[in-house]
Formats: sequence, structure tokens, C-alpha cells
Amino acid sequence: MGQPWDVWIYRGLALLLIGCPCALVISVPAAIASALSTGARRGLLMKGGAVIEAAATVNHVAFDKTGTLTHGRPVVTALQGPAGRAWFPEDQAELLATAAAVETGSSHPLALAILNRAAEEGVLALPSDGGRAIPGKGVTALVAGHETYVASPPQAVAAGVMSDADLTQARAPESEGNTVVAVYRPGRFLGLIAMRDEPRADAADAMRQLRAMGITPVILTGDNPRTAAAIAGALGMDFRAEMLPADKLAAIRAMLDGGVMMVGDGINDAPALKQASVGAAMGSGTDVALETADAAILRDRVEDVPALIRLARATMANIRQNITIALGLKAVFLVTSVLGITGLWLAILADTGATVLVTLNALRLLRHDPTRHDSASPASHGTETATA
Ligand code: ADP
Ligand code: MG
Repeated sequence: MGQPWDVWIYRGLALLLIGCPCALVISVPAAIASALSTGARRGLLMKGGAVIEAAATVNHVAFDKTGTLTHGRPVVTALQGPAGRAWFPEDQAELLATAAAVETGSSHPLALAILNRAAEEGVLALPSDGGRAIPGKGVTALVAGHETYVASPPQAVAAGVMSDADLTQARAPESEGNTVVAVYRPGRFLGLIAMRDEPRADAADAMRQLRAMGITPVILTGDNPRTAAAIAGALGMDFRAEMLPADKLAAIRAMLDGGVMMVGDGINDAPALKQASVGAAMGSGTDVALETADAAILRDRVEDVPALIRLARATMANIRQNITIALGLKAVFLVTSVLGITGLWLAILADTGATVLVTLNALRLLRHDPTRHDSASPASHGTETATA
């Protein structure tokens, strides 16, 4: 267009430099790497950047009860024989010895409670064989040639060994937050074992934090509704009880739209952990849960759940800042180079400068303390959720 060659070759070179997307390319991975490292240092293990993205936008968090909201160290509070029958110390020893036999090899918290009680009373577990878990229901093993079960009372009722009177007897401790299991084999009901598991000290505070962040927490448990209500009431949250692994899965699917995080620890939680937008396993959880989950809460604190979401939200905000810096600077220098206001040297500085700025901004995440929540304003969280 009749313009001088030397001016436009020079501006063209500046434009080529401006066109280098170095800062943009580094903006996302630098933030993700910083966040993963910050998380890992605080015991929040996330298996990749996609987890951060998903965690930043969850609206629901579903918690398993046993081992997640509670310590997962239940203690046996009562042993009961069949209703309306004489109950001798030998019967109690047989109940414990049989239950311990079935639970040998089980990693479920209830199993440890029973094994501990047996050890305390000096009761030896009977020899057993072929133990296996029936997820969400109980465990079974061969004891003295009989297929013997330690399972939730409804299982014993379904097997036809538990009477209505026995079921009523199981209800009372349940309303006080105990979990009651029945010990039986086909044709014979040996008795009930009541166990109580205390909620983790930080659980109530964690729920308050989640609600302040605009997230709805809910309990999904395989335990009975009375025990679940006792725990849920203490934490001020909703609950759904008597859920088999498939029910937990369905409940998670129903919440998927708004983004849902599932926090669990057991084999029974694995399908739900896999299905959820983000599955987080408690560090003390079973191998299956830890392997299936997208994230692990290594320090076993419920408060680390809101912390993980806070870290994810801070990371996404950081990424948005980075993209704005990277593209914004380029846009400004694109115009000024074409108009000849800025030259090649400034273009180089802008290019390198943007990369440095973006990297420094991402490194700020290394200092981020996701456990601090008093300074976090609910308003900024709201916009983050909306834009993402
Ligand atoms: P949660 O969802 O609260 O972690 P689970 O699904 O692990 O609970 O267990 C649900 C119910 O199944 C328990 O409340 C108990 O009645 C029974 N159960 C599961 N595992 C065992 C076990 N190892 N010993 C006895 N009962 C068990
Ligand atoms: Mg559990």
C-alpha cells in the first residue's frame, strides 16, 4: 500500500513476537503445579489438574458416615442375646468368639471394634475360613462348617433368624447413635452387638464452613436411619440411610448436575467415589477407596474437605487472572506495535515480562493457606462458581 518496507518489516517482527503465546501456555500448568504442590504439602493429594477444575465447581458434598464423619474407631457398648431367652456368660463368650471369627481379616471399622472387645475379654476367635465382605450389609465366613454372618439387623430379618422382639431390642441403642449388628447363621440367631463411633471433633465446623461456601453437605450411609439421624442431628446436616453401594451411586448420579464431591473411606463407597465429579478418600480408608478416588485427604480431617475446595477455587481464580494478564498484555502491545507506538525491544520485554508475571502469580499459590477461611469472602466464591 505504498508504505516503506523497513518500517513494516520492523513492525512485522514486533508483531511476530507479540504473537508468541509463551505466557498463555505457561499460565495454566504453572498454577496447577503450584496448587498440586501446596495441596500435597498439606496432605491434600489431588491426582491431576482436572480434579482441581472439578473441585472448584462442586455444589454438593456427600459424606459417608462411618470412618469419614466419625473417627471410624467404634467401641462395643453392649452385647445382647436373643430376646426372651436366658443369656449366660458362655453365650456371651460364644457370641464374641463367633463374631470375631467372622470379622477376622475384615478391614471395616466395625470389625476392629469387635476384635478389640474380644481381645479385651480374653475371648479367642473361633477358627474361620473364606471370609468376605457383603458391601453395605455385613461380612460372612465359614465358622465350624457353618456359613456365619455379622450383618445389619435387616439382613438377619431377611434370613429369617431374627424375631420382631429382637428387632425392637436393636432399635433402642440405635436411636442413641449406636450401630447394631446381628450375629447369626442359617437357623440360629446368636445375638446383637451394639457399637458407638464418635463424630470427628472437626466435623461440625467443617459442615459450617461448607455451608458458608454455598455448598450443601449430606450424609449417605449404609447404617440404619436412627443411628444416621443421631449423627446428622449433631452435625446439623441432611442424611440418607440404609444405602447399598448401588443406592449411593444413584444418589451421586442425581446430584451430578450441580457438581458433587463424594467423600468416603470404604469398599462400599468405591462406586460412588468413581461416579462423583470428585471422589475424595480419607487417608485411613481402604485401598480400594484410595485407588478409586480422585483425591485423598491424608490427614484424615473433615476440615480438609472445605480446604481442598478452597484451594481448587483459589487455583481457578489464579488461572483466570493469569489468562487475563497473558492475553491482556498481548492485546495492548498488539495495537501499539501495529500503530508503531512501541518497538521491538518493548515487544520482547512485554513477552518475557508477561511470562514472568504469570509465573510469579502462579507461585503465589505456593503460599496459599487453604485452611484459612475467615478472610475468604462468600461473594468472590459466588462469582467463581458462576463464571466457571
Ligand atoms: P457406612 O456407609 O456408614 O460406611 P457401611 O456401608 O460400611 O456403612 O456398612 C453398612 C452396614 O453394614 C453397617 O452399619 C453394618 O450394619 C453392616 N456392616 C458392614 N460391614 C460390616 C462388618 N465388617 N461387620 C459388621 N457389620 C457390617
Ligand atoms: Mg464407611
